[in-house]
Amino acid sequence: MINLILFGPPGSGKGTQAEKIVEKYNLHHISTGDLFRREIKNKTALGLEAVSYSSKGQLVPDSVTIGILRKEVEAHPDAKGFIFDGFPRTVPQADALDKLMSEMEQSITCLIELRVGDGELTNRLLERGKTSGRADDQNSDVIANRIQVYKNETIPVALHYAQVDKAFIVDGVGSIEEVFDRICNRIEEQSQTV
Ligand code: AMP
Repeated sequence: MINLILFGPPGSGKGTQAEKIVEKYNLHHISTGDLFRREIKNKTALGLEAVSYSSKGQLVPDSVTIGILRKEVEAHPDAKGFIFDGFPRTVPQADALDKLMSEMEQSITCLIELRVGDGELTNRLLERGKTSGRADDQNSDVIANRIQVYKNETIPVALHYAQVDKAFIVDGVGSIEEVFDRICNRIEEQSQTV
């Protein structure tokens, strides 16, 4: 079973690559950003809380995020493995995920970080904002804040998995197929070692 964390700053291509990985490895894809957007669209209490953070480029509090993630994992007991996209984004979230995995007698196979420079990220997000309908992709200040939050709060998650030799960096610049091949090579190397 493969349980993959697809990691990287906003705009690094996690969503695009996750779709391709799901198809190839038959994993269940969980994007906490997508889960929050669904709640926001349905105007639930959770959605109202989430949008008060996401509209400013801030993280939704860990207790809320861990709760929604756990619920989604537990709703798919027959999954052949998971791809976590946009989660964990803080060290407490990583600790909660490790705990959840061990309760399921599973573990994280590896974390793959898509590395893309800040200038390229901003351009990609503003470009995506023209068609995605996502307000947080249309404002340069919100984008800058999301990149800063990634550096301050999220990068330590990669160090958390690096300590157990499970974190790998993949160059996120190139065609979708090139980046996908780099990711697949990593997954295959890593799944042979576990
Ligand atoms: P994303 O689509 O992954 O860029 O997420 C959009 C927004 O949802 C983020 O800017 C956060 O406000 C919120 N969000 C998504 N995932 C998380 C997470 N793991 N922890 C905290 N907030 C999150």
